Amino acid sequence: MANKSKFQAIRGTRDLLPPDTALWNRVEQTAHELFTTYGFGEIRPPIFEPTDLFARAVGGDTDIVGKEMYTFPDHNLRDLEAALYPICNPAIDLDDPKDLMALVADLRVFLEQFAVHQKQDEVPKTSENASAVARLHTLAEKIDSLRLAAEDMDLMSWHALFQEVSAAAKEIRLGDMVSLRPEATASVCRAYIEHNMQQLPQPVKLYYMGPMFRRERPQKGRYRQFYQIGAEILGGPDAPAIDAELIEMLMTFFDKCGLQGTELSINSIGHAADNCRRGYVAKLREELLKVKDKLGADSQRRIETNPLRVLDSKLEHEQPIIATLPRIADHLCDECRAHYAAVKHNLDLRGVAYRENWRLVRGLDYYMRTTFEITAQGLGSQNAVCGGGRYDGLVELLGGPPTKGIGFAIGEDRLILSLQEGGKMLAARGPDVLIAWMGQNAYATAIRAAKTLRNAGFRVELPATELKFGKALERASKLGSRFALILGDNEIQSGEWTLKNLATSEQQKLSEQALLEYLRG
Ligand code: ATP
Ligand code: MG
Repeated sequence: MANKSKFQAIRGTRDLLPPDTALWNRVEQTAHELFTTYGFGEIRPPIFEPTDLFARAVGGDTDIVGKEMYTFPDHNLRDLEAALYPICNPAIDLDDPKDLMALVADLRVFLEQFAVHQKQDEVPKTSENASAVARLHTLAEKIDSLRLAAEDMDLMSWHALFQEVSAAAKEIRLGDMVSLRPEATASVCRAYIEHNMQQLPQPVKLYYMGPMFRRERPQKGRYRQFYQIGAEILGGPDAPAIDAELIEMLMTFFDKCGLQGTELSINSIGHAADNCRRGYVAKLREELLKVKDKLGADSQRRIETNPLRVLDSKLEHEQPIIATLPRIADHLCDECRAHYAAVKHNLDLRGVAYRENWRLVRGLDYYMRTTFEITAQGLGSQNAVCGGGRYDGLVELLGGPPTKGIGFAIGEDRLILSLQEGGKMLAARGPDVLIAWMGQNAYATAIRAAKTLRNAGFRVELPATELKFGKALERASKLGSRFALILGDNEIQSGEWTLKNLATSEQQKLSEQALLEYLRG
């Protein structure tokens, strides 16, 4: 057992290490190269953004925003924070008038400090802050005056008053709320608007890769810091070919990575109108209410909040019930039906195989029409390696011009897991050459030789301290080096270096130039 150190990676996070990172790099390189051939450029948005951006884009009612985001107020006002704490959490002994006076004193101190920081523009000037501070001022005065007649107040009234103080104090935000990004589509749309990308030739094609953060229960293929590779197409014509080409690129990517057992599912969820999805959802809710008693608690709740999500259920006993529910394909409006048919036709033209899955829904309001998901093998129940869909309303929702949008996000951790399960490990690569040098004379030459060889692209191990000949060879074979370059006094004098092939134990003498040519060959 390894020693347990005091510090360990936080639950749900992990170190990616060699040789695995070589596979990560290869996957990412494949994405860079392939996406470029489809006309995509890379965007690197920040890793934290205003909480409101995600609340607005992803949706305040979703699990992601509701309970999975890492959110914190962005400020450095430790003194003010410390002053706020006892007001948020008043520990008062009601029988002790000293405590009452202390609370009022704390309140006054906080309000004074708050005013100072506000003058220096260090706290957010929001209407929430303004009204909370006004309430605290009123409460301070009220307690002050009542305190004089404390005997007349019953315990319950005091208690209610403290609750009021605490509630108002908890409304105060010392800094703007920011969140670690749980996904990147919102950021890409924010950037599109911020940089006026609607003035560029449309559509704008962007891809990204990097860590995302969601506070979920960690398990195989599910982490709190995980990585996504995603792409978005923003703006441009209303053409089903765009959806199909994006999916073609995605499937080509998985193919180039060597991912096995991929399955593409597609669906259309129409658009938010009474003669389309809204009508369907109403019908679905009606049918769900008839079978409510047979459903689990989650699904029962979703009948009210988001009936579409019921279709997502993995619960065994709900499956036969769900199979009898009305299907969205029968409720699409003419335009959405035509769009879906055209997407399928365009996939056929490109030779992309797909399976239609009427239960494939995205739970967020902004998604519309095309949705898709790719599963791969070897991942157990966490087998979705990619999710995507069309979101024509999102840019507008974030304050931009009406803009079409479609994108996907690949779960890179799951992609790598599946590649590894499928035997697509990259073997750990040892050095090409370990330089076994002996003596200070040889050391200078060894340094130069290492530089030259590395310059030519070879992996070179140059021991930092002089090793006995046997030890150097032992190190070379432990590292899995292909060759040992032996540099001692003899080699320096003659200019003929000794190269030992560690697999065959053959040795030969070579000049510096000949050595380079030999290794290249
Ligand atoms: P799931 O249903 O598996 O929770 P999701 O619908 O939340 O997935 P998306 O938000 O569509 O996932 O993200 C796209 C992809 O990102 C998923 O298909 C998955 O491969 C990956 N992913 C999502 N959450 C995690 C996580 N916590 N850890 C690792 N990968 C994840
Ligand atoms: Mg999820």
